[in-house]
Amino acid sequence: MPQLSFIKPTGRVTLGNYIGALRHWKPSAGSVFAVADLHAITVAWAPDKLRESILEVAAVLAALDLHSEGGLVFLQSGVPTHSEMAWLLECMARMGEMSRMTQFKAAGRNDGSVSVGFFAYPILMAADILLYDAEGVPVGEDQKQHVELTRDLALRVNNLYGPIFTVPEPVIPAVGARIMSLKTPTAKMSKSQDDPDGTVLLLDGADEIRRKVLGAVTDSGREVYFDPEEKPGISNLLEIAAGLSGESREAWAERYRTAGYGTFKRAVAEVVVEETSVVRTRTTALLDHPEELNAILRDGQERALVRSSPKVRALKNAIGYPLAD
Ligand code: ATP
Ligand code: MG
Repeated sequence: MPQLSFIKPTGRVTLGNYIGALRHWKPSAGSVFAVADLHAITVAWAPDKLRESILEVAAVLAALDLHSEGGLVFLQSGVPTHSEMAWLLECMARMGEMSRMTQFKAAGRNDGSVSVGFFAYPILMAADILLYDAEGVPVGEDQKQHVELTRDLALRVNNLYGPIFTVPEPVIPAVGARIMSLKTPTAKMSKSQDDPDGTVLLLDGADEIRRKVLGAVTDSGREVYFDPEEKPGISNLLEIAAGLSGESREAWAERYRTAGYGTFKRAVAEVVVEETSVVRTRTTALLDHPEELNAILRDGQERALVRSSPKVRALKNAIGYPLAD
């Protein structure tokens, strides 16, 4: 089944994004990988930072060759069918069902200053999915409700106007590694957090990676073993090493059990440096040659527009717009 995955440009790409998501993404005919930049403005943003993040995320997708094999890599903001479909679906969605979205209830319900876009973004997400006839959508538990909303909207449209949409299923991937901050190993490493020493960036240079990994907080005791409760810092480093090397946490723990924290950290730092070096070099090269990256993105957005337009036309036609065909 071709994969459809979107990533929000809400900051610089982290090692957590790479281990937990990006390194598992593979191109195939029909796959869709997009920079969800329309989703990035549902909360406050700074134009310069947004631009920087969009280009970096896009460059990583291209560096991973996700536009090969007939896969699509593009900026969501460059493909107008996304916003157009979102508007059409907004007129089919109900305030009642939208107000039940737990993410909105948790973060926005009693805050009059939250944007209308923040309330409506699950509908934009539905558009992203329905435009490409995605059958399975890989999401974390927190986004499952939004895929269910997408299903409800698809079924509603299909019941009223005939079989326009493929009704998608949420696919919850087997729980993979969750990489934590190197400074606060009880908090997730994430690109929108301001935690410079706790966050390894995918584009950090080798020395910067070494400095951050060697500066990671460790736990009391001196043995290396996996126990997230008792040893959150060491366990996080084991998770990182295993996530990148393909060797298990247990194998790593076995090898470094009595070697001392310093030796263990140096080994983890080297794995990070080595296992990210190809993607880092390719991403940096693309960022240094914007014309090459732009060409990839323009080609992606043209193909995404061609692929998604018939869906918008079909819906517009069905709901009464005479010139939609
Ligand atoms: P934000 O702070 O904006 O939520 P994020 O770093 O959490 O940014 P997302 O855009 O939410 O990144 O997620 C992109 C992908 O990266 C998702 O598939 C998510 O599961 C994965 N991911 C994010 N952070 C981690 C992490 N610390 N460990 C493993 N996977 C992660
Ligand atoms: Mg996140």
